[in-house]
Amino acid sequence: KFYCKDTFPLQEIHSYSMLEGWLIRISATNMIYIDPVAGEPPLVEGDIAASKITDPCTSRGCLWNKWSDGVYIPYYIANQNGSCPVVLRGLESFSGFSCIRFRPYQSGDYERLSIESRDGCWSYVGRQGGGQIVSLSRQGCIYHSTVQHELLHLGFNHEQTRSDDNHIQVVWNNILDEMKHNFNKIATLNQGNSYDHNSAMQYHRTAFSKNGLPTMVPIPNSSVSFGQATQMNKNDIDRLNRLYKC
Ligand SMILES: [Zn+2]
Repeated sequence: KFYCKDTFPLQEIHSYSMLEGWLIRISATNMIYIDPVAGEPPLVEGDIAASKITDPCTSRGCLWNKWSDGVYIPYYIANQNGSCPVVLRGLESFSGFSCIRFRPYQSGDYERLSIESRDGCWSYVGRQGGGQIVSLSRQGCIYHSTVQHELLHLGFNHEQTRSDDNHIQVVWNNILDEMKHNFNKIATLNQGNSYDHNSAMQYHRTAFSKNGLPTMVPIPNSSVSFGQATQMNKNDIDRLNRLYKC
């Protein structure tokens, strides 16, 4: 039985720049080093781990089973130390606005999320079958918005990759070469839910910038703020409920 045993104060650690699974270091001579986190599954899109499902959640098998009273997703939290309450709060938030119920792992559960403090914040997209890791590093990922973001990858991709995205202009010249693939459009399942600049799945204005200048500009009003979500908003919740027919 799982319980939040440790309640040490949270540490704020920002000794280096880490954006969703990538360690970005800039030297005194302005050399930029970007490292995917070592020893982890290859990451294909920032914080999305490569999976056998290429077009998640437009494919069969992406979703967890739904029972008459909800969708139960077992989880196990490993080596989180002081971050446990924040992770739990993120997990439990889903039951307040959807039919998704994260529940503690019990022996015999074949499918489960293993929530671990690995290097960076990352997740697979969709259900993988068996155990699957969601990484929430104690260094840089322990925020309510980040926990919700990584859990939303269990059904969704990033907002700026949406197939119907004519709401963001990508400024390719400002993006680190190695990271340009993060901004490609993909065949997402949009379910009639509109683009939302303030979705929890929207990257921020200078994400993966090589020069500090914006990598994305919102359309039509280029000056509105975006990518600042502190939690899932109405659209995030609506599309989750549509996906699972809650
Ligand atoms: Zn992400």
